[in-house]
Amino acid sequence: MAKSVLNAPHFQDEKAAFAYVEAHLWADGRSCPHCGVLGQSKPMNGKTTRIGLYKCYACRKPFTVRQGSIFEGSHLPLHLWLQVIHLMCASKKGISTRQIQRYLSCSMKTAWFLGHRIREAMAPGADAGPLGGRGKVVEADETYIGTADGKHGKKAWGGMGHKQKVVSLVERGGQIRSQRVKEATQITIQDILESNVLPGTILHTDGSGIYVNTGLKHESVDHNKGYVRAGKNGRKVHTNTLEGFFSVFKRGMVGIYQHCGEQHLDRYLAEFDFRQNTRAKLEIDDVSRASIALKATKGKRLTYRTTVGA
Ligand SMILES: [Zn+2]
Repeated sequence: MAKSVLNAPHFQDEKAAFAYVEAHLWADGRSCPHCGVLGQSKPMNGKTTRIGLYKCYACRKPFTVRQGSIFEGSHLPLHLWLQVIHLMCASKKGISTRQIQRYLSCSMKTAWFLGHRIREAMAPGADAGPLGGRGKVVEADETYIGTADGKHGKKAWGGMGHKQKVVSLVERGGQIRSQRVKEATQITIQDILESNVLPGTILHTDGSGIYVNTGLKHESVDHNKGYVRAGKNGRKVHTNTLEGFFSVFKRGMVGIYQHCGEQHLDRYLAEFDFRQNTRAKLEIDDVSRASIALKATKGKRLTYRTTVGA
């Protein structure tokens, strides 16, 4: 890990951390989390005043930048939060609860909570639009984690002989979106496509029968015959973007996150999707990736999505 990066003041000093978070979350002005009024607050500067405390002159209530973000209700200093966000953004396969625990010398519970709150920030916001559109290619594929023979053990995968199923969509050269499904069937796929993909999209899949009759243009590649074939208009038909993503995701889930209950899988998927969507190829470095995650911590406080089955 790049030590030099973590020497930056906002990773070491609480005051600097508050200033850094404020600059990210209040980029459009300091808004009061109680009444929503913008620019009507002043810092409270008493000798015993907590760092980062402001008073709103519209509603007379005090607040800090933690309120209304994933940091609300946490006693962990912000500069430590920032370190963990950075590590999570910079590690290709994620970092485990145990790693966070060792790193911060905190309890397992705190470390676990921290990781999941950060994953929540990484989940797509309400502004995440649908994928694809006329003439654009979206790859769709499914993967399975855990093994039917219980190789990873009963505890590790939250159920003996139970594979967890994931369906991912990725726009060629664009964003990825993954979700847990109870069963990967034609009906499930149809639902997922209807809520995530624009009409006119060209769907690229393997030879599986669950991707037919979706109402979208469809080109498939039979993996028994190869992984890429020539399609219409010189297009290459393949699902290689997703094959690559699944390989990172699986290595992370098996190697780093050995314990993942089904109810948490969507949050891990959000984490891997986030890193894929902000990957180095798009010229986003670790620092900018952490900045993007930090900006997304706002308003996520109470939005733990209930993990939807399909
Ligand atoms: Zn107010």
